[in-house]
Amino acid sequence: MTTHQHSHPRPWVSNKASQFTESVIREMSRLAAKHQAINLAQGFPDFEAPQPLKDAACQAIQDDINQYAITWGDKVFRDAIAAKTKWYLGLDVDPETQITVTCGATEAMMSAMLATVNPGDEVIVFEPHYENYGPDAILCGAVPRYVHLRAPDWHFDEKELEAAFNKKTKAIIINTPHNPTGKVFTEAELTFIGKLCEYWDVLVLTDEIYEHILYDGHRHVAPATIEDLKDRTITINALSKTYSVTGWRVGYIIANAELTGAIRKVHDFLTVGAAAPLQRAGAAAMHLPENYYTHLQQLYDNKRQAMLEVLDTVGIPYFKPQGAYYVFCDIDRFGYADDIAFTRHLVQDIGVAVVPGSSFFEDPVQGNRFIRFCFCKKPETLQAAQERLLTLNSEIKLAR
Ligand code: PLP
Repeated sequence: MTTHQHSHPRPWVSNKASQFTESVIREMSRLAAKHQAINLAQGFPDFEAPQPLKDAACQAIQDDINQYAITWGDKVFRDAIAAKTKWYLGLDVDPETQITVTCGATEAMMSAMLATVNPGDEVIVFEPHYENYGPDAILCGAVPRYVHLRAPDWHFDEKELEAAFNKKTKAIIINTPHNPTGKVFTEAELTFIGKLCEYWDVLVLTDEIYEHILYDGHRHVAPATIEDLKDRTITINALSKTYSVTGWRVGYIIANAELTGAIRKVHDFLTVGAAAPLQRAGAAAMHLPENYYTHLQQLYDNKRQAMLEVLDTVGIPYFKPQGAYYVFCDIDRFGYADDIAFTRHLVQDIGVAVVPGSSFFEDPVQGNRFIRFCFCKKPETLQAAQERLLTLNSEIKLAR
């Protein structure tokens, strides 16, 4: 993107907006379109959404559900979220005082942070991290404090985490299952985090958008179910990934009544509310039978297997994901200057778009030996990607 800089007596662009760049992931989608590359960059499915959701959305429009829903969410949808949360996480949530419906998990995280974090507060973020969290913190005037997840199993060092907590720490962001590594936080890890949060009186902002996409028997543990974290956790979720509707922009936040009161005010003035007919469809999503989730896991298990086979065939080393629908790969052996040079070559010459690893790190150098593939795609899309990536393989053989 070209930015035009004019000289003004004072900068027209705010200090906050100057502190971060446009999303690399979304930029990769545009580059993919430009070069007619297969888009394994941005995390959105290229297959259809469940029929009951589509039917419910069409029906809602036919029924003239066209005006503003209650700002914190249509009651039918909130009731359905409470019931589904009770079933999946075992949590009792009051739909009247503890749920806020938002425009996707993106707005959910922003509203939750604006409602709780003061300028100058510190927010702990595990790194690598989904790229929105840095700008979210900056938009609140907060200081992100990064703690490493360490390859190959993406564990955190307890001492490093302990040292990151201090009097200025207001919140810690957890994302489980984790984008980009596929790490699923264990109960033991969350209990350790819980003790620190309790000691320092810190809130937990947990992004659980991949809660149903799990492999090899890994179990989703929601921070809100950990004893020390029950009351201090703000749980963020969305329809986007579980129901393959990233473009609908419907998400939700669960928090105690005090925090929800503040979050609802921020949300109201930011967006008023999410699309009313799609909230009705959200209720249909929450009422899908249990076997929907079993099928979803099976579907993604097959896709992960297909993706890993592609990587094995092409010879790209990877970290096997435990959850979510990405695979983080090590590109060291290809001998490119960095991840940007490699991803540029992939999108322009090979015809496959992926995300450069540096976009998940504060210091780009730390991410420059990684790339991320997204595999929420049809089998034929993954197959086509394999055919193109094999060209890369022969290039490497030639170079040797
Ligand atoms: N959180 C994580 C961890 C994600 O990976 C994504 C999308 O890739 C989002 C949030 C965005 O969610 P939504 O589209 O519901 O705003």
